[in-house]
Amino acid sequence: MENTDIKNIQWFPGHMTKTRRMIQANLSLVDAVAEILDARTPLSSRNPEMDRLTAGKPRIILLNKCDVADEKTTEKWVAYFKKKGFAALPVDCKKGTGLKNFMPVLRNTVLKELVEKLANKGMAGRPLRIMVVGIPNVGKSSFINRFSGKRAANVEDRPGVTRTKQWVKIDETAEMLDMPGVLWPKFEDREVAVKLAFTGAIRDGVLDIETLAMMLLEKLSKLYPDALRDRYKIEIDDGDTGLLLLEKVGRKRGMLVSGGEIDTERAAITVIDEFRGGKLGRISLESPDGV
Ligand code: GDP
Repeated sequence: MENTDIKNIQWFPGHMTKTRRMIQANLSLVDAVAEILDARTPLSSRNPEMDRLTAGKPRIILLNKCDVADEKTTEKWVAYFKKKGFAALPVDCKKGTGLKNFMPVLRNTVLKELVEKLANKGMAGRPLRIMVVGIPNVGKSSFINRFSGKRAANVEDRPGVTRTKQWVKIDETAEMLDMPGVLWPKFEDREVAVKLAFTGAIRDGVLDIETLAMMLLEKLSKLYPDALRDRYKIEIDDGDTGLLLLEKVGRKRGMLVSGGEIDTERAAITVIDEFRGGKLGRISLESPDGV
């Protein structure tokens, strides 16, 4: 696993500085900030600067991709964020699950005071303005498209796609300000980078796919061994290394190269693809227990 040189990852630095400035410059135009996180990695998929950048603005946290995250763990995350004073909603922006709660929670909880104030001033018709933020690939476009009723235009399965700021009218009651993705300037925490690589939040090729699959298998063998047993029909023994697990998967799937050796690269691609596609079941890579 020596070739996992996280420090060399480039995080679109120019893009990031621009976004940071854009968030600060546009904050006064919005009533609330909707921060989209990946339900499988709510802490790792957060921009640590976000609290500082959006300080003072009411915030709602969307735990997106909850369809592929562990339901029980997602519930714990909702409680965790609520305890921190944020409204939090599990959503699936691909299918639209949970999104019907978004505007009611915004109106009745997050922006309750403002909504009442506007009503008292006879301005109940003034649309609420929400800034949408989140790291690339977390589901911002999917979220906005769901609300604006557009077909999934601009939705990319590739992180790091640059977009510029745009207002999207939701209906007569709300408008959203779409922000391009923000990532943080330095990746000091290797664990964070690895988890984002597992979920595809960072570009493939940044980390070697076999290394990535070995790390994922090792982690899953501890967190969700049954998911691996069920999917790959493999035995898992205490202390199995990532390489061993990868070889077991490759062998079971008959992925061999000439000479009968296991094609670990193909096995690795399979494991990563299947994990990302939710084929291993609903898996959360982070839990608020002990955070
Ligand atoms: P953005 O870069 O933040 O705008 O992210 P996108 O909206 O482009 O989504 C990135 C990828 O995640 C796409 O392949 C989407 O189909 C997928 N995606 C978005 N929301 C969900 C979700 O709730 N569940 C699942 N399983 N996939 C999602």
